[in-house]
Amino acid sequence: MCEEHICPHCGKLIDDDEALLCLYCGENLELGVGTLGKMKYSTHWIVVTAVVIFTVVAFTLLMMR
Ligand SMILES: [Zn+2]
Repeated sequence: MCEEHICPHCGKLIDDDEALLCLYCGENLELGVGTLGKMKYSTHWIVVTAVVIFTVVAFTLLMMR
């Protein structure tokens, strides 16, 4: 196993693939697994925000008539 790890926090390459903590910023590398979930979470909120903005704009245009 010669996997290269990149710290999800500072983006630096971690040579030691056994390392649990980032050598540079000290953040837990296990949190990198949660990054995908976080991205899904923010994507979800982007969709919700887009729908809300669309609804508000549509409502405003309706009221302006
Ligand atoms: Zn780091």
